[in-house]
Amino acid sequence: MTFTQIHKEYDWNEIKSFIHSRTADDVAAVLNKETITETDFAVLLSPAAEKFLEPMAREASSITLRRFGRTIKIYAPIYTSNECTNSCVYCGFNRHNEIPRVTLTDAEILAEAKTIADMGIQHLLLVTGESPKVVSVSDLARTCDMLRDMFSSLSIEVFPMSTGEYTALRSSGADGLTIYQETYNRETYARVHPAGRKRNFEWRLETPDRGAEAGYRTVGIGALMGLEDFRTEEFFVGIHARYLMKQYWKTHVTVSFPRIRFAAGNFTPYELIKDKNLVQSMLALRLFLHDAGLVISTREPAGMREHLLPLGVTQMSAGSKTEPGGYNKEHDGKQFKVEDDRTVAEFCAMLRSKGYDPVMKDWDKNFLVRS
Ligand code: SF4
Repeated sequence: MTFTQIHKEYDWNEIKSFIHSRTADDVAAVLNKETITETDFAVLLSPAAEKFLEPMAREASSITLRRFGRTIKIYAPIYTSNECTNSCVYCGFNRHNEIPRVTLTDAEILAEAKTIADMGIQHLLLVTGESPKVVSVSDLARTCDMLRDMFSSLSIEVFPMSTGEYTALRSSGADGLTIYQETYNRETYARVHPAGRKRNFEWRLETPDRGAEAGYRTVGIGALMGLEDFRTEEFFVGIHARYLMKQYWKTHVTVSFPRIRFAAGNFTPYELIKDKNLVQSMLALRLFLHDAGLVISTREPAGMREHLLPLGVTQMSAGSKTEPGGYNKEHDGKQFKVEDDRTVAEFCAMLRSKGYDPVMKDWDKNFLVRS
């Protein structure tokens, strides 16, 4: 059964109403259980569960310590182009926004990569907008080939591709894929993606499958928090992650919790995601899926990232710039505003001071057979 078929079996409004009508007694009963079912997960996402964040945090922390230890994998993004043919209403790269459009040359990509590598980063996330005429699959393959010897691991966060295209990029050194569904609500998805290739809900929904089928060792998913009722949204993220973990046991599945940040276009979110909402989502996910990697990026402010550290996070970005060329020369063509602007060294020093090991390398490029 594909995830599109599974997704169709769930009624958004029924789940939303179930989540919003739970009581404190329902939550207390779930917290006494050994195993958290899908229904229990929904209960943990309810408004009633907000009063139970402390016991949830204790349990999430203990599960994460047992499964991952006191380690945080460090990565940084490299934006190679902010050209985009889509018009996602929440994104600074939306084609209607008047921002400086920059596509890096190979020499500029190498200069950015060198700056990032010099910061000590070994896990690189390659990001572009969706403009295949400006950055095609073969351009991305050339970039991966160029960078594969500079980093131990290359992940991509670009446009959805076919399994064959993902396989081609894997041959060029990519081993991880990040692709957010943005929202699992079909109607909202259609509204916030009014034009462009991204309008195809199912094609995007099945993208993580295609990456896993192509043999990517990590696949990251998530919803953009603030586009819809976050509790219902995170329920769908959880069942999607569980499906992927069961279906592709060789692939490590990670979940991110990106909150909408200020970007060109001044998009007004459906709801403002408070810190406690983000915390609750992360805790519920950890209690539901013990083995999922949980990712928090520099979208979050320094204080919040430190607060989240013991609660289940396993990966964090550091020293990030979100505009193409930004590591060597900052400009206004950002995808979103970075909130934690500490350097990699400062961030790692903070982790060590709190008893955590920053993991700069958890994979070796030589594990991938060159084509
Ligand atoms: S979210 Fe992605 S596809 Fe949409 S406008 Fe931004 S870069 Fe383009």
